[in-house]
Amino acid sequence: MSMQGKTVAVLGVADRESIAWHIACQLQEAGATVVVGYQQRFYSRVRLLLQERPTIQGQKADVLDGDELDAFFAHPAFAGGQLDGLVHSVAYGPPTVFSRPPSEVNVRDFTETLDISTHSLSRVVRAARPVLKSGGSVVTLSFLAAQRAMPLYGIMGVAKSALESLVRYLAAELGRERIRCNVVSPGPIETLAALSEVVALKRDPSVLEHMPAVRLREILARHGLDLSTLKPSPEPSEEDLVFARKVWREVQREFSAHSPIHDIVTARDVADSVQFLLSDGSRKITGQVLMVDCGFSSCLMV
Ligand code: NAD
Repeated sequence: MSMQGKTVAVLGVADRESIAWHIACQLQEAGATVVVGYQQRFYSRVRLLLQERPTIQGQKADVLDGDELDAFFAHPAFAGGQLDGLVHSVAYGPPTVFSRPPSEVNVRDFTETLDISTHSLSRVVRAARPVLKSGGSVVTLSFLAAQRAMPLYGIMGVAKSALESLVRYLAAELGRERIRCNVVSPGPIETLAALSEVVALKRDPSVLEHMPAVRLREILARHGLDLSTLKPSPEPSEEDLVFARKVWREVQREFSAHSPIHDIVTARDVADSVQFLLSDGSRKITGQVLMVDCGFSSCLMV
């Protein structure tokens, strides 16, 4: 598990709650040189985080911008092919992706979701190749909705299925250079991306009418959260976020109650598993999906 002397790039820091930020902090504490990538629109938040941890470096890296990605991997920390590890913690889907029935999502929103959440891994690997060492390791993040349909997750589940498949193909491609590629698939964690799924639901409450999400309805009813009385709002407000946090914590409790280990998965748990997959301890593991979910996906707890 040692990260001493290793150099790692972590893409996908938006704020303090980002799984990518927890991964970056953990790897730095374990001795790695860490460079984080972020979208320019989150710079004001990321700047404060980097001030708190001056040993972590940062640079903008929008996965849709080839020049920005090339500039990111030209960072002096990676010069001369010094990159040992690459973490891709990036996903985005427009609100309709979570709120419309799958048969009604238009091709533009569908494509944008798969472009940013899936194909970006190919682009990031391509841009990193010139500096990625033989023996290096690439890790991305998925969710159980890749393997089982979860209505609340919408078309993002399709993107995650494709991502897990892409990882197997990248593992086959990169294996000749002894570069590994794996997935960590955590249980629900409260982050900006996670809350935006619930906010999408609140902004378009009619969605529940066609969503076969029995448990979610139960959660909402138990807390007197009646979506049908809410008015759709064009932009997410502070009130939306408070609502989303409440619902998300209930979703986490549901997962915990139906898992062999009755606990809630944290970003730190994910960071531990990512560290393992980046370390030499996992040197013969590639093309795999590691479920970090208290066993939820492995058991039917009735
Ligand atoms: P987050 O919102 O903090 O992270 C998502 C990141 O994607 C953000 O940093 C955002 O800036 C980045 N991103 C979006 N579009 C981008 C673009 N064009 N270029 C560069 N970056 C872009 O939320 P998170 O929960 O930390 O999500 C990180 C990963 O973990 C995602 O792949 C997510 O699907 C996955 N995941 C999250 C959970 C959870 O419950 N939070 C569970 C399983 C998997």
